[in-house]
Amino acid sequence: MEFQRLRLTGFKSFVEPTDFEIRPGLTGIVGPNGCGKSNLLEALRWVMGATSAKALRAGGMEDVIFAGSGTAERTGRPPRQWAEVALQIGNETRTAPDAYNDQPLIEVSRRITKKAEGTQSTYRINGKEVRAKDVQLLFADGATGANSPALVRQGQVSDLINAKPENRRKFLEEAAGVAGLYTRRHEAELR
Ligand code: ATP
Ligand code: MG
Repeated sequence: MEFQRLRLTGFKSFVEPTDFEIRPGLTGIVGPNGCGKSNLLEALRWVMGATSAKALRAGGMEDVIFAGSGTAERTGRPPRQWAEVALQIGNETRTAPDAYNDQPLIEVSRRITKKAEGTQSTYRINGKEVRAKDVQLLFADGATGANSPALVRQGQVSDLINAKPENRRKFLEEAAGVAGLYTRRHEAELR
C-alpha cells in the first residue's frame, strides 16, 4: 500500500481544500514555524482513525476544525462547521487487506461535523460508510496505524530519552509489533 495523496478541507489551519501529492522518495517537509507541518502529520494520523485528541494537540476532537482567523481590526475568515481529510492509497502491488484487495486505488476519508449536541464523525472507504474500527484495522495490519512508531511526533525523540524505563519499553514493544499481541491476550483472559 502506497500513500499517494492527502486532501485536507477545513482541517486545522488548512481552511481551503488543499491537496498534497506524496511522491516516492519524500523524506521531509520544511517550512517556517507555524506554517502547518505538524498539522499535516496530524491530518494523516486522524484519517487513519486516531482517537486521542491530545495526541493531535487538541483539547477536544472538534478543535481539529478550522477555528477562524484574524482579529476585529483585520478581517479574517470565519470558523468552519466541519473538517474532512481524505487519503488516497495506491494498491497496485495488491498488498491491502483482503476486503479491499480487488481495488487498485483505495480512498479513506474521515469527516467531523459540529452539531448542537456535540460532533458527528463519519468514515468512508471508497465512498462507502464504515466504522472507525474498519479504518483502524485497514492500517493496523500494515503496521502503519495512527500509533505506529513509523510516525514520529515533534519532541518524541527527546520524550523517549527522558521516559521512564516502563514507558520506553511500551514504545519498543509497539516498534517490535508485539503490542497488539498483549491486547489480544488481555481480551482472551477476560473471556
Ligand atoms: P513548527 O515549525 O513551529 O513546528 P509547524 O509548521 O509544525 O510549526 P503547525 O503546528 O502545524 O506548524 O501549525 C500551527 C498553526 O496552525 C498555528 O498558526 C495555529 O494557529 C494553526 N491552527 C491549529 N489548529 C487550528 C484550528 N483549529 N483552526 C485554525 N488554525 C489552527
Ligand atoms: Mg511542528
